[in-house]
Amino acid sequence: RAKKEGGNRVEPFRPAFRTSGSDRLQLEADLKRAIERKELSLVYQPIVRLSDAEVAGFEALMRWDHPKRGNISPTEFIPIAENSDIINQLGMFAFDRATSDLSEWQIQTGDLPIFVSINLSSAQLLNSGLYDDVRAILNKNRCDPAKVKMELTESLVMENPEQARLVLEKLREAGLRLALDDFGTGHSSLSYLTRFPFDTIKIDKALVRDPSDKRGVVLRSVIAMARELDMRVVAEGIESEEDAIQLAQMGCDYGQSFLFGPPVGSESILRLLKERFPLMKRA
Ligand code: C2E
Ligand code: MG
Ligand code: MG
Ligand code: MG
Repeated sequence: RAKKEGGNRVEPFRPAFRTSGSDRLQLEADLKRAIERKELSLVYQPIVRLSDAEVAGFEALMRWDHPKRGNISPTEFIPIAENSDIINQLGMFAFDRATSDLSEWQIQTGDLPIFVSINLSSAQLLNSGLYDDVRAILNKNRCDPAKVKMELTESLVMENPEQARLVLEKLREAGLRLALDDFGTGHSSLSYLTRFPFDTIKIDKALVRDPSDKRGVVLRSVIAMARELDMRVVAEGIESEEDAIQLAQMGCDYGQSFLFGPPVGSESILRLLKERFPLMKRA
């Protein structure tokens, strides 16, 4: 990102970043080669409809199996990628792989009504080729754009809100769906809801698990607001069945958490789909 903008802009301090400066440079160099070395993969976590506990879709989450360090968390390597051009390659790798996996599941199960949700770094919105790349990959993988959601967070959008809005609107016009991720964490704010064409809100687990007795009021209000804006709501990180029932009663559409299933590989998803939708198998 810093490179792209061409200036000597000072990067903001990222408190989540635990790696030291030289480590970071090494990881950045390693990350550049990670795709061709096949060290990156995607896992998928079910997004479950709370009204009937049925699987509605999956979020694609990236994994990096580093040859020396083993698994490195995306919370560590995505920020590194975002500070260079690498995020564009990583982002397109995820988009390509996830839409091609979705196509394969559809072929194998007879066109199930499920979607795949893919994280899009706001840094990718600064790449003028994003929209064309997305269209080309959807075509190549014969993927219905209506079954593809992009998840966005981050204040970066606000660095160039006009360009971000234009790209997001084009993506919507092309039929893709857009989710505002990590809602309620401070990275995603209310003004995003009116400025950008989101159709889904993902409430961050910090809010879903807030131990305060005010949690109910806050969650109910967020869900009510989303419904009035004609948006779907996903609650992240629901910890108990009790909370799932309560959220369903509040009108929350979906849940995504270890309670409903951890992220797993594409083959496991295919098995899961064939199990859960036996009647629709090979329709
Ligand atoms: P996210 O998009 O908010 O994804 C949800 C994260 O919450 C995932 O962590 C998931 O494994 C975790 N999670 C789900 N259910 C539970 C639960 O019940 N309890 C707890 N404690 N955690 C749960 P993960 O896979 O480590 O990803 C972390 C973040 O890294 C993601 O947060 C997203 O911001 C980023 N990320 C992951 N893959 C990609 C990608 O392909 N592209 C981009 N740009 N970012 C990605
Ligand atoms: Mg996400
Ligand atoms: Mg999230
Ligand atoms: Mg998150």
